[in-house]
Amino acid sequence: MVQSQWPYWLPLRSDLRNISPYGAPQITGVVALNTNENPFPLPQEVVIAMTERLSQVISGLNRYPDRDATELRRKLAHYISQTTGVEVTSENIWAANGSNEILQTLFLACGGAENLALGFVPSYTVHPLIAQITKTPWFAGSRDADFGIDISKAKKLIREKSPHLVFVTTPNNPSGTATSIADLKELAEATGSVGGLFIVDEAYAEFSDEPSATTLLADFPHVVVVRTMSKAFAFAGARTGYLVAKPAVVNAALITRLPYHLSALTQAAAETALEFTPAMQSEIELLISERERVAAAINEVGYRAVPSSANFLLFSGFKGDPSAIWQAFLDRGILIRDIGLRGFLRVTIGSQHENDQFIAALGSIAASSNEIAE
Ligand SMILES: *Cc1c(COP(=O)(O)O)cnc(C)c1O
Repeated sequence: MVQSQWPYWLPLRSDLRNISPYGAPQITGVVALNTNENPFPLPQEVVIAMTERLSQVISGLNRYPDRDATELRRKLAHYISQTTGVEVTSENIWAANGSNEILQTLFLACGGAENLALGFVPSYTVHPLIAQITKTPWFAGSRDADFGIDISKAKKLIREKSPHLVFVTTPNNPSGTATSIADLKELAEATGSVGGLFIVDEAYAEFSDEPSATTLLADFPHVVVVRTMSKAFAFAGARTGYLVAKPAVVNAALITRLPYHLSALTQAAAETALEFTPAMQSEIELLISERERVAAAINEVGYRAVPSSANFLLFSGFKGDPSAIWQAFLDRGILIRDIGLRGFLRVTIGSQHENDQFIAALGSIAASSNEIAE
């Protein structure tokens, strides 16, 4: 909610007075398919190992944590080397409380009033939000009707605007569509030619077949890949995100991070999760096949699902307002996301049982809205 009237005694920045706090509704007792979380709880073996590890850390909480999260970054470097085929070390990694904090750290380091940031919308709305909070001017480039980026238009725009920061989310949120590595390379080249930083938000990379933009790092020093453990790692509650880049970018992040930003508990929990990577990621294949099942069900009732490379689907084709359809799902106990995009709603892929419930509600809503229309 936007506060219509802030108290007179609060010296809030005038440019923040009309902003609403970011966030989707958190409602209990419903099937929550609205924030792209992984629906599966941590495997029992990980719970046991993490509990043991954390109990050792707890007695040492009188001390500040490792400010540089050395061991966690070493483990993240190992994970990235293994999964993307690009050999990186802890010097190439910075970690923080979720990739949102990583994004903020980058904006603080390279944004600001004189430095334009540019993205291609519709995309992740936190990018322009952090731009605004850090007083970084934001230019919204467009995507095509199928949510792809027209590369020659985009390159022209980058050369015209000379942004300091260029953002591409792939697979994109909220569309689920991926940008090919060949296209990313062209955009990286264009961004480099105007002296900008090319930031690829790969929050959903583990659900996609496209190579990671880490493969561009050898040729393009200004590429920054932003990742999170919130989605494929099923670790949203622990708040762990990171970036992969040249050491100079990490050194810049060291300037704008808060001292001791990543608690000893978070570091230990994330290190343990990484030791159990195969167990933590064991449901990815299932989520991908469930995604295809849900997409087919959406198309079956006469709606249209946008082909997705992530763990969610954007869909359209329903009659009436997205907010009315959103409410119709909630009335049936299913919480999905109205992302404020005309004619579209987004649903996260849940467990098989949750997806069954979504599909049942979908069938009933499509049938009743067709009746109304007749
Ligand atoms: C979910 C998401 C993130 C942020 O996740 P954190 O939980 O802060 O790590 C970043 N980018 C995109 C595109 C996302 O969808």
